Amino acid sequence: METPSSPSCGAAPIDSESEADQVTRSERTAVYPGSFDPITLGHDDIVRRSLKLVDRLIVTVAYTATQVKQPLFEVRERVELLERVYADEPRVEVSSFQGLLVDFARSMSAPIIIRGLRAVSDFEYEFQMALMNRSLWPEIEVIFMAPASQYTFLSSSLVREVARLGGRVADFVPPVVLDALIERVGPSVAGE
Ligand code: ADP
Repeated sequence: METPSSPSCGAAPIDSESEADQVTRSERTAVYPGSFDPITLGHDDIVRRSLKLVDRLIVTVAYTATQVKQPLFEVRERVELLERVYADEPRVEVSSFQGLLVDFARSMSAPIIIRGLRAVSDFEYEFQMALMNRSLWPEIEVIFMAPASQYTFLSSSLVREVARLGGRVADFVPPVVLDALIERVGPSVAGE
């Protein structure tokens, strides 16, 4: 990270640099947690935008934090789909985690959490979680990102529901996810 060109009052001396500052000086790493059941083009939009801000992004599937009521894909399958979607993007790492997100982020030396905000309805829960996470690890910073407007209505749960009912979701998920959905629920998801 670049240092400010002119010294400002209140700037921290080098020897009191925080743990997070030391980590981010060399490489800025963020985690993007979610259920990703499955990854949609809305998630992907947030990933691409985040890569403009960070050097390395760990997209991580939560086992417990975000409970999906009727999962379509197992966590292992969601991880595999993410790996295939980002196979050509060396700055994206894929994983899963159990337990507290801040513990995972810390273990990955990633003091930044990325979250997507679709609508005001997302805000209250996200804000609560951000403040709770900060009380658990004061070094953490949470970045909320807005997707392109055409994805503001999109959610994994909607994709699951439409797919299960035989509707076309081809415009809302990456091609590898569409293939997996065709295999899981049939060709109608591709509109065929
Ligand atoms: P969901 O099941 O609601 O689609 P996840 O738990 O997988 O979502 O979401 C992980 C993160 O991605 C959350 O911060 C969520 O707000 C964000 N997100 C999900 N879908 C979108 C979208 N279409 N646009 C922007 N952010 C999104």
